[in-house]
Amino acid sequence: MSEEVEFVICNNCESPCYSFELDRKGGISSAFCALCGADEAKDFHIPEAEDIEDQG
Ligand SMILES: [Zn+2]
Repeated sequence: MSEEVEFVICNNCESPCYSFELDRKGGISSAFCALCGADEAKDFHIPEAEDIEDQG
């Protein structure tokens, strides 16, 4: 069972961003936030399981 990252969180506006790439280690290699324009990997983080709320 491998963990799948569906989105990353922008550190600037805390929005989920779906345009991103992960490196082999599971880190963020590149990402882009359409909301604030952040485009550096360091501007994003991968959401923890606790950050993802169950729907319903
Ligand atoms: Zn942003």
